[in-house]
Amino acid sequence: MKVLVIGSGGREHALCWSLKKSPLVERLFCAPGNGGIEDVAECVDIGAENIDEIISFCQKEDVGFVVVGPEGPLVLGLVDKLANAGIKSFGPSAAAAALEGSKGFMKDLCREYEIPTAAYQRFDNANAAKNYVATQTLPIVIKADGLAAGKGVIIAGTLSEANETIDEIFGGLFGGAGAEIVIEEFLEGEEASFFVLTDGEHILPLATAQDHKPVGDGDTGPNTGGMGAYSPAPVMTQAMIDTTIKKIIKPTVKAMKDRGIPFTGVLYAGLMITTDGPKLIEYNVRFGDPECQVLCARIDSDLLPALIATSNKGLADLTLQWRDETALVVVMAADGYPGSYEKNTLIQGLDEAAEIDDVLVYHAGTKRDGDTVLATGGRVLGITGMGKTVKQAQEKAYSGIETINWPQGFCRSDIGWRAVEREEK
Ligand code: ATP
Repeated sequence: MKVLVIGSGGREHALCWSLKKSPLVERLFCAPGNGGIEDVAECVDIGAENIDEIISFCQKEDVGFVVVGPEGPLVLGLVDKLANAGIKSFGPSAAAAALEGSKGFMKDLCREYEIPTAAYQRFDNANAAKNYVATQTLPIVIKADGLAAGKGVIIAGTLSEANETIDEIFGGLFGGAGAEIVIEEFLEGEEASFFVLTDGEHILPLATAQDHKPVGDGDTGPNTGGMGAYSPAPVMTQAMIDTTIKKIIKPTVKAMKDRGIPFTGVLYAGLMITTDGPKLIEYNVRFGDPECQVLCARIDSDLLPALIATSNKGLADLTLQWRDETALVVVMAADGYPGSYEKNTLIQGLDEAAEIDDVLVYHAGTKRDGDTVLATGGRVLGITGMGKTVKQAQEKAYSGIETINWPQGFCRSDIGWRAVEREEK
């Protein structure tokens, strides 16, 4: 079968790396891909949101299955349009992608199906929102309803900060994404992620992970797309996973089916592990980046049949084998990220890193220029280590980083610190 992966990040490199191993794959394409994906797939110069060209390409090449990486094309309806053209794909319909695309939609669904989540109210005007905030305890969480590239959530510590935030969002800070807001209770606890595949009816649990969003060591500084991650997440015990499936995942799959918009693809639950158990913070409707890199490193089965099964109600009888090890990815980013940064700087030492046992080198913002690799994005590489413990996986990842010579890049030096501390207790 010919398979096309959509996207250009480390997540898509990991997906291509996994899918390349499938005996079912006759040719693997990636649109648009990156400098590392070129090693495992045929990169096609089509943007991830260029839906018409993606469909024409699939028809021309007789692509049998499309795996959509990022949320953008999902929200734009790529899966629906592929289905109309008779092409099967991995990911939800645009209507089902509202689980990520509208926080109000997600919260209303939780309320109706009694899914544990922070108490909340939705607002479409500033006065009502401010009156509500005045009656709540601080800190309080204010969220733009729509997609805001991870920036649409503000935790306000004072009433004046909350009121200012409300005015800014309704004043257009996030454009149309802020036409409505959700105000919710601040939850305390440790955050973790849980991933399941679903075909709209059945689920296949994948694994847990934790990521580090802030740019600096000790989880300080501005938030980024993610500076590192590891799987499994030690805080997610089997009992916690069972509770999450029973109280959060299964009711969500049922709710979507009941609403006539069954969810297919990967459900990525962002959880807060509180003293009352796991509570849902958010849903993402695609794999996380960099969480996907650590999940793919741990999967020991052919991934493709499981992804295909999400699109044809075939998940009930499937299982996946997992390596009983921790995978830990450290993201290398361009100096200045998440602000502005230089492009087209030279990266060396990648082959040496990849030769180390239990080290995988995933590319994100890179391109090839002859025999050289240049950095073209903010997050550029994901160096991944495997180990029996989080500590060992961490050491492996950083041993890979030591071989890389990229003066204009940086990484955090403490990815996995919380899990290592827990392990050493
Ligand atoms: P991202 O794209 O980064 O995942 P997002 O814009 O979809 O973010 P959320 O995941 O809902 O937004 O929130 C971002 C972060 O804000 C969470 O990872 C969490 O750290 C914090 N947060 C969100 N809601 C709450 C809450 N109710 N209580 C405490 N912290 C919260």
